[in-house]
Amino acid sequence: MSHDRPSGEVVLPSVDPRPRFDVDAIRAEFPALHQEVNGKPLTYLDNAASSMKPRAVLDAMAAFYERDYSNVHRGVHTLSQRATTAYEEARQDLATFLSTTPDEVVFTRGTTEGLNLVANAWGRTFLRPGDEVVLSRMEHHSNIVPWQMACQATGATLVVLEIDDHGQIAAGEIESKITARTKVVSTSHVSNALGTVNDIPRLAAAAHAVGALMVVDGAQGVPHGPVDPRALGADFYAFSGHKMFGPTGIGVLWGRRERLAAMPPWQGGGDMIRSVSFEQTTYADGPARFEAGTPAIGEAIGLGAAARWLMSKDLAGIAAHEDALLAYGHARLAEVPGLRMIGTAPNKKAVLGFVVDGVHPHDLGTLLDMEGVAVRVGHHCAEPVMRRFGVPATTRASLALYSTPTEIDRLVAALHKALSILS
Ligand code: PMP
Repeated sequence: MSHDRPSGEVVLPSVDPRPRFDVDAIRAEFPALHQEVNGKPLTYLDNAASSMKPRAVLDAMAAFYERDYSNVHRGVHTLSQRATTAYEEARQDLATFLSTTPDEVVFTRGTTEGLNLVANAWGRTFLRPGDEVVLSRMEHHSNIVPWQMACQATGATLVVLEIDDHGQIAAGEIESKITARTKVVSTSHVSNALGTVNDIPRLAAAAHAVGALMVVDGAQGVPHGPVDPRALGADFYAFSGHKMFGPTGIGVLWGRRERLAAMPPWQGGGDMIRSVSFEQTTYADGPARFEAGTPAIGEAIGLGAAARWLMSKDLAGIAAHEDALLAYGHARLAEVPGLRMIGTAPNKKAVLGFVVDGVHPHDLGTLLDMEGVAVRVGHHCAEPVMRRFGVPATTRASLALYSTPTEIDRLVAALHKALSILS
């Protein structure tokens, strides 16, 4: 169709051939979003802590438990074979999500376990006194404490990349602190407290230039769409299922196959061995070496469904929607008197963290909940970030692909109401 103007000039209609991102259609797939809390429509803005689950994930898990449930790998009977097939198909789904092959996908309990696995299996084996492990000031505790423990056990030292007032790694830090002593650089892909997107290719290039390992905490990276950790330059990339619309209790540690092959096991037990005797045990190759014991089978299947579900969506549309919403959130929150944003990096995702003069975040969080608005208040397991900004805690509204401008409006209205009560 074209429109002829009186002048005869032909104006082509602005038809975008790409599929349109339809947030209402997305929301319809999430049963939990459609409820009232405290008599108000639920405004769920706690997605950085955990996201809701689409029907596709709930159905995949229910179908497994209703029809195919059994233990994996060890059985010859039909149900065990079905369970094994479904579990390994889930690994394939995650491999597709990560642009890799299943031999690089280790199922874990989540980001925390993935990072502990690397810090223990790799760190405690290869770190020596005088070696340095480089982290950033914005890390979640789960990317600090395991490395601190590995350093204590080996005599290595933690080095911290400082952040600037916007909450991004400060100028000059990478050049001055990643040195010949560095053996590991481990940072978040996206900060949960600030929303900052770290420049992983740059960090990885600096790490690799000195022969160090690049480990990425991807907990807040994957909820926004598929990630290619190899293209980012990572050696290991850890994440949780529950923040990317999958279940709790399951996550992935992606590792380059040569890195996985060079790493000793961490936990011992069933399924991670080739053969066992009291004299000598030999270990399985590939992901199995790191998956001791009965895995979270139904949860892995749920996570596979979540990965498939995400990949089926209009990813460019999701990114544009989330980025527009983040900008809208910043603009609307700027209207609130006494509000200061914590985390204003130019490259950020999905996180609106703030403090309000003279108001404790916990009081704010409680009053927002009365309006049906779910946000997180506290230090967000990132105490060094809070200290850097001189605050004990922040209020954090965090977005997902199903978030809407109306929800931002409700947050702002609820904030005005709460502040009128508190001040
Ligand atoms: N890292 C980051 C950046 C996170 O946001 C989180 C969860 N808040 C974690 C690690 C830990 O994830 P989990 O508790 O699922 O292991």
